[in-house]
Amino acid sequence: MKNILLAVVMLAMALGSCRRKETPPVPDQPESPSVSVPVFNSDSAYAFMAAQTAFGPRVPGSKAHEACALWMESQLKRYCDNVTVQPFVARSWDKRLLNGKNIIASFNPDARKRILLCAHWDSRPYADHDPNPANHRKPIDGANDGASGVGALIEVARLLSQNPLQHGVDIIFFDLEDLGEPQQEQSDLSDTWCLGSQHWSKTPHITGYRAAFGILLDMVGAPDATFFMEGTSMHYAPEIMQKVWNTAHQIGYGNYFIKTESNPITDDHLYINKLAGIPTIDIIHIDPSTPTGFFKYWHTVNDRLENIDKNTLKAVGQTVTQVIYSY
Ligand SMILES: [Zn+2]
Repeated sequence: MKNILLAVVMLAMALGSCRRKETPPVPDQPESPSVSVPVFNSDSAYAFMAAQTAFGPRVPGSKAHEACALWMESQLKRYCDNVTVQPFVARSWDKRLLNGKNIIASFNPDARKRILLCAHWDSRPYADHDPNPANHRKPIDGANDGASGVGALIEVARLLSQNPLQHGVDIIFFDLEDLGEPQQEQSDLSDTWCLGSQHWSKTPHITGYRAAFGILLDMVGAPDATFFMEGTSMHYAPEIMQKVWNTAHQIGYGNYFIKTESNPITDDHLYINKLAGIPTIDIIHIDPSTPTGFFKYWHTVNDRLENIDKNTLKAVGQTVTQVIYSY
């Protein structure tokens, strides 16, 4: 996912204007409180996350990347009868052709009412925001940036298998999200981030695929994370933002979900909104106190398992679970 300043410029070009809107007051309305909602197990989500980092950095083209793809597919098949692997080829910022795989689990594939949940699973080959320049071309473990969202959603898949819903849910793990041009480079290509979601948004796994809304998880495992109401999500899907943030406040996670709008960023949800037309929000750790605007180890070699907090996984995982079971 791309750094805020550059993303603002790109979004301004894409939208023609980039005015910051006043955030309307968001009342804490109850969201269908009578529904029975399963308990999101953060130990389980953490184990699913740790299993990914144990492969090492899941950099496209590496053995770890290949092995992790097979592992995710096998995990989803434990919980879901309909798992699709969508292979694709995409061109990177440095003009290499790379093989990617989007991995998709569809619960109740025939249901018309559907919710899309997603995260990226690849890890960034460049720690280009590490304080030590010697690390700028080293890959990151991506415990938070990548593995946390996937870990949380495999746990949601486990809950869905044990507590079936009437409506459909699709869980998509996008590949090649975090391969955009390094900070120290200038590519002459545009849209070098989010290659897997760009491919899927143009060519969904099912022709004419529709979902009522989508939720993207990105960097949902750092201690004391702050999830602001991110600007791209507010532009395309303000009602979904309010629904999710209200739900978080209602079930006691208001300290994580901050009801303040922040600048728009480029992440997988931008392309799902723009190309696939599915209103999709991003639950992403934004921290205005760091130089990058993201969590403090963003795109550094310290994005490791030891810097993950199960309490944050729980806050996000339980909120998403509440939203999909209350739909
Ligand atoms: Zn990243």
